[in-house]
Amino acid sequence: MKKISIIGSTGSIGTQTLEVVRNNKDIQVTALACGRNIRLLEEQIREFKPKVVSVADEKCASELRTMVKDVDVKILCGMEGLVEAATEPEAEMIVTAIVGMIGIEPTIAAIRAGKDIALANKETLVTAGSIVMSEIKKYGVKLLPVDSEHSAIFQSLQGNSGNHISRILLTASGGPFRGKTLEELRTVTVQDALKHPNWSMGRKITIDSATLCNKGLEVIEARWLFDVEPDRIEVVVQPQSIIHSAVEYDDGAVIAQLGTPDMKLPIQYALYYPERRFLPGDRLDFSAISGIEIAKPDTKTFRGLEFAYRALETGGTLPAVFNAANEYAVAQFLAGKISFLEIYELIEKAMTEIEIISNPTLEDIINVMPCVTDYLSGK
Ligand code: NDP
Repeated sequence: MKKISIIGSTGSIGTQTLEVVRNNKDIQVTALACGRNIRLLEEQIREFKPKVVSVADEKCASELRTMVKDVDVKILCGMEGLVEAATEPEAEMIVTAIVGMIGIEPTIAAIRAGKDIALANKETLVTAGSIVMSEIKKYGVKLLPVDSEHSAIFQSLQGNSGNHISRILLTASGGPFRGKTLEELRTVTVQDALKHPNWSMGRKITIDSATLCNKGLEVIEARWLFDVEPDRIEVVVQPQSIIHSAVEYDDGAVIAQLGTPDMKLPIQYALYYPERRFLPGDRLDFSAISGIEIAKPDTKTFRGLEFAYRALETGGTLPAVFNAANEYAVAQFLAGKISFLEIYELIEKAMTEIEIISNPTLEDIINVMPCVTDYLSGK
């Protein structure tokens, strides 16, 4: 029986991971962590019987202790709890389904404890890519992508080790605002931005998809996961989300992974790699596909890609500043405090005005989030 720990178990990726666990019946969940959704965590504790759980703070922990006082489970909180859940001794793999840079410390701790990583939490790789990759090497653990595009690239690389990657074709749906002009974007609302055409995801990544910042974060994620130079990563818009991404080799062959949009496929592939198991759900109906649309991204209106390539070119703490400013701005937008286009303005401000550290330590990178938050909030 494989043993795993999931941090971010109550979110979109976390609950779908548990669905995969439920369907397969041969994975034991030894630890779970979430923020404040203790009602759902209680259900997960009763169903999956983890040994350790962690929640955002002591108030949630103490409420949860009362709710599950009949169950034998250790309840922790805060960063200490998150790290303990990520390093639970019996777990062989940790699924990082938490959102944001808060994932850095538990992910690094898990790597150092010898756990394989099924990585959904792209913010960790975007901000601390160089450090994470060298720790992965040092501790000899596996890093398996959960993000659908990166899983598609990873699947397209199978059987090709040693062959040079000529190009990575990273597909994007274009989000809910594809085709809109700057003028039209001035008045879009949070509700409009949350209507993703193809995928049902957490709120932050859904807004990131609308700004194309998600694709920018994914370019940086791909750079580290597959060790390719940024100019070999090309973003193409594929609005139907049929082609999940592709790899072009030196002989011109393009190998892609196609399928219906279902995150359970990349999650299950990461959990059981290299085995492919039956996954219930829709299959691609080729007879119903009238054409596969491909377009270039509108990088002038949707500036997420421009920020990402700039961050990669400069390096140091700039990718972390881009990511932190985006996390801050998206939270402000979701809270109704700024407009959609102001997300770009805040990111631009942080990336231009905040001093960059060229060779940051892990501590420097973790410090970027509070520093950017203080700067942008005018503290
Ligand atoms: P959600 O917002 O749906 O879930 C986030 C999870 O993180 C929840 O379990 C939440 O707990 C937990 N969390 C938030 N803050 C804290 C905290 N302070 N301490 C502990 N736990 C916390 O996000 P998604 O599942 O959509 O995304 C998760 C990650 O996966 C992101 O990095 C995203 O970019 C990536 N990803 C997501 C995809 C998707 O389809 N959703 C696709 C590809 C990548 P609570 O519920 O209690 O708030």
